[in-house]
Amino acid sequence: PTVTHLEQMIQQATGAHGVIALSSGMAAISNTFLALLEPGNNVITSSRLFGNTFGLFNKTLPSLGMEFQFVDLKNRSEIEKHITPRTRAIFVETISNPLCEVADIAALASIAQEHNLVLVADTTMTPLMVFDAKQHGVNIEIISSTKFISGGATAVGGLFIDHGTYDWSQLEKLKPEVERYQKNAVISKLRKEIFRNFGACMSPNNAYLQSLGLESFELRVNRACENTKIVAEWLNEQAQVLTVNYSGLASSPSHAIANKQFGARQGAILSFELESKEACMAFLNKLKIIRRATNLNDNKSLIIHPASTIYTEHTEEQKALQGISDRLIRFSVGIEDVEDLIDDLKQAMA
Ligand code: PLP
Repeated sequence: PTVTHLEQMIQQATGAHGVIALSSGMAAISNTFLALLEPGNNVITSSRLFGNTFGLFNKTLPSLGMEFQFVDLKNRSEIEKHITPRTRAIFVETISNPLCEVADIAALASIAQEHNLVLVADTTMTPLMVFDAKQHGVNIEIISSTKFISGGATAVGGLFIDHGTYDWSQLEKLKPEVERYQKNAVISKLRKEIFRNFGACMSPNNAYLQSLGLESFELRVNRACENTKIVAEWLNEQAQVLTVNYSGLASSPSHAIANKQFGARQGAILSFELESKEACMAFLNKLKIIRRATNLNDNKSLIIHPASTIYTEHTEEQKALQGISDRLIRFSVGIEDVEDLIDDLKQAMA
């Protein structure tokens, strides 16, 4: 009942058709495709993804016969060129981690509708009050609740949200569930088979901690988003900083679409480049308040060098495809006093 309570709170907040809480964000992503795809089916996605999502799509699910095409999701003709009779879904991160690229979700939804594909969006970086996934045509929304929802890294979790807008009778994999459960086909497939058999359930204690997290969710999101904009503007003015990736900056190529989709709150992650790996390490080692850790959207500010942490198992070729250079730093901005954060950045860059 504690897990059901969390699912119901998310269902009320989103107006979704059905919600399932799982053991992690990665469990939510992997179980989604295990529920939707048959061997030989394929999915259109981008190479600009969280490292483990890329690994799941590039290695783990292909070993089960599922195929993933990595294309530029901003380019309609490139997407359409890769759609085949075996394509079943498009997968996108609303703001890509860590390069902060923003796809036009309504445009992806129109392509998905035209070709009867399921639009699956990982909205972890753009929480519920920032981005209304259903309104933008997303069929399945996935959230790593480990991040903003847990608040302060208290518990790992993932959410699968069915917005009730896809006709599941179009997927051969779900034919038996459609006959038996109609509109609840995908929720039933996950709940009664996939996540149970793979053991990907959320623990009651994690559901309890994440329900508590929901109580202060919006306050924390607002503060972290405000801090991020201020920090991004400051970084953008520093001579040592070569580029800042954050859609809230007027100079960002994603600025216009991000303003349209998300409004003023454009997440709490940014990334930036210094002149070399050595410069990145020297800077990171001097930080006093901002901690080095790979979680994100925590209350505390967390910073990493992606190439030597999350992407360390990836080949040089894969890193190049994903746009991960040795000069890149990812910064998840927390809810501390923003002046303390800027003072810390300042002394570490001096
Ligand atoms: N999606 C995004 C965008 C992420 O950044 C992460 C983790 O960092 C995940 C999914 C995976 O979530 P979890 O750590 O809960 O498995």
